[in-house]
Amino acid sequence: MGLVKDFFSGIYNLVVGLFVTGKHLGRHAITLQYPKERWEMPERSRGVVVLLSNPETGELNCTACLLCMKACPTAAIIIDREKNPDTKRWFPTKFVIDNTICAFCGLCEESCNFDAIKLTGKYEFSVFDQAELIYDMDRLVELGRDVKYTPRKKPAAKKATAQKKPTTETKKSDEKKEDTAEKKTEEKTDKVEANPAEKKEEKAESEDKKSEEQESRKAEETPQGDLGLDKPEDKKESGS
Ligand code: SF4
Ligand code: SF4
Repeated sequence: MGLVKDFFSGIYNLVVGLFVTGKHLGRHAITLQYPKERWEMPERSRGVVVLLSNPETGELNCTACLLCMKACPTAAIIIDREKNPDTKRWFPTKFVIDNTICAFCGLCEESCNFDAIKLTGKYEFSVFDQAELIYDMDRLVELGRDVKYTPRKKPAAKKATAQKKPTTETKKSDEKKEDTAEKKTEEKTDKVEANPAEKKEEKAESEDKKSEEQESRKAEETPQGDLGLDKPEDKKESGS
């Protein structure tokens, strides 16, 4: 009885296996002919760490701010730096990444504000000698030459910039602004003061005109009295 059961279960498994194989007969092959062919890795793959440079000038993006070195949890990054006496800017003289202790965590990339360091999709770095896994700056720059990247958007300037200590230039500009503001206010007050004087003159002119009109009316009435012409009411009184 057991033999019969094993026989049929074997046939069943054979049919299922052939069915799975038959499903892929009409499909294209998914086997990759490595190393002639390679998978294209996603942009955010965490492979070999490289240093990025400006694609137009070839200049290294790194400003030797040491943020990545401080952010690295395994201390795999070592940077030495110097200051350019002309430009007063730091630049790296030594940039080493020890891939034997790198955890490919991506914190160095996250901490960099200058698009200078990046984890790439490159994953072929097997060597026979472990010492070759310690990459110096030239190697890191060379590996990053063909790496495409999208420059990060710079964060908006903080409002705290208004709280910066005032320099001599800012003080001068503030004084100038205050002077111009004072001049404007003085001009406005002069205008405001000049307007009432003009209004007074206009009022005086209008009052003069009114008085002239009243005098002319009186002059029209008075000549009758001067000529001795009696009014009709006066005549009545004299007749009585
Ligand atoms: S990926 Fe992580 S462990 Fe490797 S160098 Fe960057 S911060 Fe350090
Ligand atoms: S790679 Fe970026 S974070 Fe590291 S030192 Fe250079 S600029 Fe600073």
